[in-house]
Amino acid sequence: MEKRSRDFIRETIDSDLASGKHSEIVTRFPPEPNGYLHIGHAKSICTNFGIAREFGGKCNLRFDDTNPVKEETEFVESIKGDVEWLGFKWDNLYFASDYFDRMYLLAEQLIVMDLAYVCDLSPEDTKVYRGFASKPGRNSPFRNRSIEENLDLFHRMKNGEFPEGSRTLRAKIDMASPTMCLRDPAMYRILHRSHHRTGDKWCIYPMYDFAHCLEDSTEGITHSLCTLEFESNRPLYNWYLEKLDIFRSRQIEFARLNLSFTVLSKRFLRKMVEEGLVNGWDDPRMPTLSGLRRRGIPASSIRNFCSIIGLAKRNSTVDIALFEHCIREELNKTAPRVMSILNPVKLVIENYPEDRTEHFDYVVNPEDESAGTRPTPFTRELYIERDDFMEDPPKKFFRMGPGREVRLRYAYLVTCTGIIKDEDGNITEIKCTYDPETKGGNAPDGRRVRGTLHWVSAANSFPVEVRLYDRLFNKGNPLDTEEGEEFTSSLNPDSLAVVTNCMVEDHMGKNKPGFVCQFERKGYFSIDPESTSERMIFNRTITLRDSWKKLKEKKK
Ligand code: ATP
Ligand code: MG
Repeated sequence: MEKRSRDFIRETIDSDLASGKHSEIVTRFPPEPNGYLHIGHAKSICTNFGIAREFGGKCNLRFDDTNPVKEETEFVESIKGDVEWLGFKWDNLYFASDYFDRMYLLAEQLIVMDLAYVCDLSPEDTKVYRGFASKPGRNSPFRNRSIEENLDLFHRMKNGEFPEGSRTLRAKIDMASPTMCLRDPAMYRILHRSHHRTGDKWCIYPMYDFAHCLEDSTEGITHSLCTLEFESNRPLYNWYLEKLDIFRSRQIEFARLNLSFTVLSKRFLRKMVEEGLVNGWDDPRMPTLSGLRRRGIPASSIRNFCSIIGLAKRNSTVDIALFEHCIREELNKTAPRVMSILNPVKLVIENYPEDRTEHFDYVVNPEDESAGTRPTPFTRELYIERDDFMEDPPKKFFRMGPGREVRLRYAYLVTCTGIIKDEDGNITEIKCTYDPETKGGNAPDGRRVRGTLHWVSAANSFPVEVRLYDRLFNKGNPLDTEEGEEFTSSLNPDSLAVVTNCMVEDHMGKNKPGFVCQFERKGYFSIDPESTSERMIFNRTITLRDSWKKLKEKKK
């Protein structure tokens, strides 16, 4: 694997440890439980947990559940499962909502310090008073309330005396600051909503900027790693910690992961789920971790991918071909090979005895000697791929055609002697003869046979359903839309093709959902959890062709 150079975050941690500023580092992964995790979150997980592991520190999983409107327990459970599946263990599991009492006390403390006030401006007026980057804001007419009045109003906000939107608690900083987030930002808002954990205990909820730094500080987070969009809020993060004189966590921002042909935002993913444009959060076409898992993508290839892309200070878009390359690299090493026929047509070897079954030693994984061989049954009637035969083949077609000789992998050389068609002209059977002298697939006289076909024995195989997936979007950046156009307009209508009656060898029947293998010449496939004992379903994890490798070779 490519070696990772030391990034700016690791360098910062190196020097904080060297200077003695910290003796142990503590990080956290802080998802909001308002949806399923996607591969962008994997970057954050690998960064936070990976760094803690590397430096012998700790990493917490913290649910940032300060907004009761969109959060649900279902999401909490799925997030825990996803983090574990990715291969990480949290040192502590926390919920930001467990800190609501402490946050409330700290807010009161800022009121007592005359650094916070209750404001009655409407949301619209608050906006007008804030001004613009180029124009200083104006002080709220409520800015000079006495400490006593503020304390009283804040209690009454908490006690549910006021309707939603009627009042906020704001930090008293500077309405003329060139740093917009310092223009008296809101700390608390009124929301008469039940919370998934605290129920109806609260009807005021802290704003993200106030809450997040307190969560970090409370847990003793030394390095609070987040994505670049929080860079402009860092002065406020530091202001709260400094004024309250509590543990100073340090926020460091890195670039979000953007992937071509992919949408990475819970908001948009949720929309696709709710509108039924995909079959749930774990649809194998989704970039969610549950979708990728269901598709058969190994967690290790996601970790590898995150390690290769590294951490940068500038946003960019990563070519999805790189991710696909990481998946193939991993599966090539680990996935057992099998011969399966996606679009079968019967091949009958006329001169092969009807009652004979031979077994050939099939190499389970040429990349992994320890995987050994498996006996593969060979009989008079086989299935081959329909598109491995052409009735009137061009010269360059090295597969089967009338009178042509091809190799059946591991078995014999066979020559096509005829075909049978139904009334509509479809080929129902191909006839051939085999050369008994070519056992193993080579002619003793050294004659050259270029085409090699895979096959399964008709008597030793059974039909399954196969789901062929393609990219979910047709467009490199699906969010780059024309005015009035929805991002869903670039959804690929052919992102799922269901193929029934594919033939796989009998031994496949014993495998369980999650099992991944390579169908030779066709791609990597995994068993879907919707499989039943009557009907097995395979998802195409990924095709074999590696466009990233090609891209790189072209550049050389
Ligand atoms: P989304 O926009 O998808 O809802 P979010 O940032 O709101 O993402 P959170 O649940 O708040 O989602 O994210 C938890 C952590 O994961 C945050 O620290 C966030 O910065 C990080 N994260 C989210 N998306 C990405 C991404 N695309 N690349 C890297 N980190 C990400
Ligand atoms: Mg969010």
